[in-house]
Amino acid sequence: MHKLGLVRDWDLALHVPLRYEDETRLQPLGAASDGQAVQFEAVVVQSEVSLGPRRQLRVTVRGDDGATCVLRFLSFYVSHQKTLAVGQRVRVRGELRMGLWGREMVHPVFRTAGVPLPQGLTPVYPTTAGLPQAYVRKAVATGLSRAVRAMTPTIPDEYLNEIACLRLLKLDSSLRFLHCPAADVSLAQLEDRTHPAWLRLKAEELLAQQLSQQVARRERQRFRAPVLVPGKPGAGAGLLHQDLLAALPFALTQAQRRVVDEVAADMALPRPMHRLLQGDVGAGKTVVAALAACMAMQCGWQCALMAPTEILATQHFAKLVAWLEPLLAPRGLVVAWLTGSQRKKERAEMLARIASGQAGLVVGTHALIQEQVVFARLGLAIIDEQHRFGVAQRLALRSKLVDGATPPGGASLEPHLLMMTATPIPRTLAMSYYADLDVSTIDELPPGRTPIVTKVIADERREEVVARIGAQVAQGRQVYWVCPLIDEQADGAVVADDASGRMTGSVPRLPARAGAGAGGREAQLLRNVTATHAELSEALPGVAVALLHSRLPVAEKRAVMDAFARGETGVLVSTTVIEVGVDVPNASLMVIEHAERFGLSQLHQLRGRVGRGAVASACVLLYTTPLGPNGRERLKAMAQTADGFEIARIDLALRGPGEFLGARQSGDALLRFADLSTDADLLAWAQATAPRLLDDYPQMAQAHLERWLGGKSDFLKA
Ligand code: ADP
Ligand code: MG
Repeated sequence: MHKLGLVRDWDLALHVPLRYEDETRLQPLGAASDGQAVQFEAVVVQSEVSLGPRRQLRVTVRGDDGATCVLRFLSFYVSHQKTLAVGQRVRVRGELRMGLWGREMVHPVFRTAGVPLPQGLTPVYPTTAGLPQAYVRKAVATGLSRAVRAMTPTIPDEYLNEIACLRLLKLDSSLRFLHCPAADVSLAQLEDRTHPAWLRLKAEELLAQQLSQQVARRERQRFRAPVLVPGKPGAGAGLLHQDLLAALPFALTQAQRRVVDEVAADMALPRPMHRLLQGDVGAGKTVVAALAACMAMQCGWQCALMAPTEILATQHFAKLVAWLEPLLAPRGLVVAWLTGSQRKKERAEMLARIASGQAGLVVGTHALIQEQVVFARLGLAIIDEQHRFGVAQRLALRSKLVDGATPPGGASLEPHLLMMTATPIPRTLAMSYYADLDVSTIDELPPGRTPIVTKVIADERREEVVARIGAQVAQGRQVYWVCPLIDEQADGAVVADDASGRMTGSVPRLPARAGAGAGGREAQLLRNVTATHAELSEALPGVAVALLHSRLPVAEKRAVMDAFARGETGVLVSTTVIEVGVDVPNASLMVIEHAERFGLSQLHQLRGRVGRGAVASACVLLYTTPLGPNGRERLKAMAQTADGFEIARIDLALRGPGEFLGARQSGDALLRFADLSTDADLLAWAQATAPRLLDDYPQMAQAHLERWLGGKSDFLKA
């Protein structure tokens, strides 16, 4: 029961049936057709144990309508034979088959006839090995009646009356109904979860989720943050962010200008910003981050920018130094750099600059949140590719504000938090799981990009693809070739090649190749990428083909990436380490091997590594045959749309929200009953109701949260 999470009475009450069986009626045996489930009463006319190749019990029964049927049992006890002795009247339920010798049933359910028929449908509950259905049924029935008896209303009628479907059934009746529906119920409504009882349950669940988000949001609003307004009105020129804008080789897009304003407005308030900046791959989020950092620095505060991989952090650092160093130097500030692989001396130097406040901006990886890192005055924390980080890591960065910054007598200050992602959160998720976030969206790409052409090609045509690589390189272009890391000892899933070790989608196993198994797990994981590197090196004589994966020493990784960025290598064979953020504008072709093994959003991220300059770019999705219909559909969707939002929507529909929620999904947090794709109206109701309930009926709100979340609401605080 524990394994199923059935601890409290309330858990039992919410353990709704998987399906139902109709045992409420008896049907005439003679009228039933092949394959139909029927329940009837009959008299046993013959019973024998046949001793063929397999012992079996064969019982012939005659229904009240005179029709006969043979019941066959391959395993049976003496007690079964007694119940099914000749002359006994029995009630039988099972699936009818029209066999060569007439009607038959294999292993039907039976009992002595005459017991009253049940009034409602019989529930069939989810269970686990060793836990009999009958036990679960009984436990649920007991738990349900206790829970219902103890139940007090937590939603006032005035709110329920706002949606017609919620007026119909109270929560207790809804639960009773779902556990034991009347026999005349529409099974379709039960299965689609559109019956009013279902709707009530979903509405309650969504309300609990919205309440907990609201509570988290209100708690956060009590925190104080530094007011970051660069330059009071009339202060004039010379502001850092204005200098940066003037120095950039491009003008901001309208969308970029809008989100910069949204961020600036948040930072001007005395409470911490909690904003998600989403924008498709290549939309230009980095410059928005740089402008926000400038505003913080202008006000005398520090900014930290954390990226999930060393490669990405390095790139950010290079770009930000180029943009900002000339502006910061006259002001006595520097851009600092912090990663796990740094030499001791350099690291100590950086830590000193961070602690003294000389480092206005600090760029780095997870190294930023280590204990030894002490900021003088952290005012703004920016997290790039935020979905790659866990809740704990985000909290850790936020808590990097030292006590020294606390104003005398005042509450301690928290930094503003800006999170960035290229994996857009679909609208319904944004309304539910991310309801406590403010969201800014860059919905426009910088001008002058040529769209990426995506081709889906079978691996049998690999040679053509290799030839195309040769042609691209001959024109002075560069090429990425991405291979999945494949864990053949697990379930053949693609393993993301980065620090987070995130798994993406479960996919079919690779056919085993000769020589598999040698060299341990590491070698197995990398076999694909190293084999492809060897193959391309041989097929493309005279072309510099480099190899990159996360198991290489850091210095080597950096050297490989630098050489590629400088255009010295024509082809980079790599794992998904290049998935996020990498920016080499001269790269014009991306080949993704075993594309069927990747999640759609991940493919979109990878594809975003090309098409970053003005050159026409292409992405080839190589797949291994045979490809199932689902795989075909997914790859087709990739080829047909370049819109990250649309792809995220399809991905969500195909894989469910777990993938998107990443670390936030702490198991129980996922919705069990409501389905965001079909219950948008209930979600809207819950969203509107939560703040009112908190304001007007705080005790009911508290009771509602207790009931639905118990002690599990901590995860929402990040
Ligand atoms: P992402 O949103 O994926 O992080 P980046 O910030 O890396 O995108 O930007 C992609 C590229 O576009 C970079 O080379 C960046 O300098 C450039 N870029 C950003 N904004 C603009 C703009 N308004 N006009 C032209 N190029 C831009
Ligand atoms: Mg980026």
